[in-house]
Amino acid sequence: MSTVASALPASRPRARHRARAYSSARARAATSRAAVGEPDGSDVFVFSAHRYELPTLRAALPNASFSDARLDASTAKLAAGCAAVCAFVDDDVGAETIDALADAGARLVLMRCAGFDNVDTTRARERGMTVMRVPAYDPLSISEHAAAMMMSLNRHLSESRDRLRVGNFTLDGLVGTSLRGKTVGVVGTGKIGRGFAKICGDGFQMRVLGYDKFQKDDFPGEYVELDELLATSDVISLHLPLTPETRGMINKNSIGKLKHGAILINTSRGALVEARAAIDGLVSGRLGALGLDVYENENRLFFKDFSGMDTKDRMLAWDETMAILGSMPQVLVTPHTAFLTKEALTEIANTTRNNYVAFRSGASLEGDAVVVNAR
Ligand code: NAD
Repeated sequence: MSTVASALPASRPRARHRARAYSSARARAATSRAAVGEPDGSDVFVFSAHRYELPTLRAALPNASFSDARLDASTAKLAAGCAAVCAFVDDDVGAETIDALADAGARLVLMRCAGFDNVDTTRARERGMTVMRVPAYDPLSISEHAAAMMMSLNRHLSESRDRLRVGNFTLDGLVGTSLRGKTVGVVGTGKIGRGFAKICGDGFQMRVLGYDKFQKDDFPGEYVELDELLATSDVISLHLPLTPETRGMINKNSIGKLKHGAILINTSRGALVEARAAIDGLVSGRLGALGLDVYENENRLFFKDFSGMDTKDRMLAWDETMAILGSMPQVLVTPHTAFLTKEALTEIANTTRNNYVAFRSGASLEGDAVVVNAR
């Protein structure tokens, strides 16, 4: 990741300088908002600000301070004097961090993501800290990514790309199948699952099966039991939340039920799939290909760059399961990028700003965006 304001002690002043140096159009927009009495965002400190999201975050909160520092108990003090901090999925918003933030004067945590399993909500309530989030952002972006993974695996696009690099233009081993008339099983038919089902049915002319605990009237396919879906689908895509019930639902037993050579896509949460069982399925051929945008140990790996590390440091972070997956030609891993479109980033930044404005303007806080209302 490239740094935004990488030297931590200098983070705030430098970040402020850069935020102010942003485009004059944005500055004018901020000024006009201030003129109508809206809080201007100068009391927001954004942690873990990645280069890919800076343009959208700065457009929404032009006067905020931005740092690439990960939020934890030791970095919380960077936000001293700010009423609000903005955090991401990989930040540590546990009890110690909440205490440090509250001691430094913060009263609002703006999660710029849907999940909040990294937030100690009990502690936040105890310390009078309101927590808000972005409950949904462009679900079709994730549906489209699942479709891209399906197509890439089915037509061996990664392998073709690897061959191009070494000057191999042969065709052996690159035969795919036409998806037309094949069966896709959509496990979890919420916003993302239904979007994926429509792409497969309307776009690729596939037969669409669905499995969901709470069936939806507008699901564009036929609901069946999970075992039937597993046994008859050529492609299976997971679109479920991670709960005690769904954790490890794709395991040795369920992989044994798959149609031979099925493609499995997971863009939901890593722990839905037992990766070691999936590797065994890939070796036996029961599982034909595997597309993962999420991974059970992703917190240790994703959003980080290990390429410049020396061997000793790299081995400390080594993940043997991921190393095996990375060596398999029938596996495609993307580092939790299914949501990563300009549209979704814009929605995330705008909803974050709206959450901040609602809190600061004293409006009543309600709806899915409110995780802890400590008012
Ligand atoms: P959603 O709430 O609209 O849909 C989830 C569906 O799962 C619902 O229809 C629900 O009834 C069903 N479900 C819940 N528990 C179930 C169970 N035990 N058995 C069967 N069905 C069950 O959610 P969504 O917006 O479609 O998101 C789906 C998942 O995608 C999220 O939970 C999240 O983990 C993941 N996600 C990933 C990314 C990414 O970038 N990779 C981004 C956003 C969301």
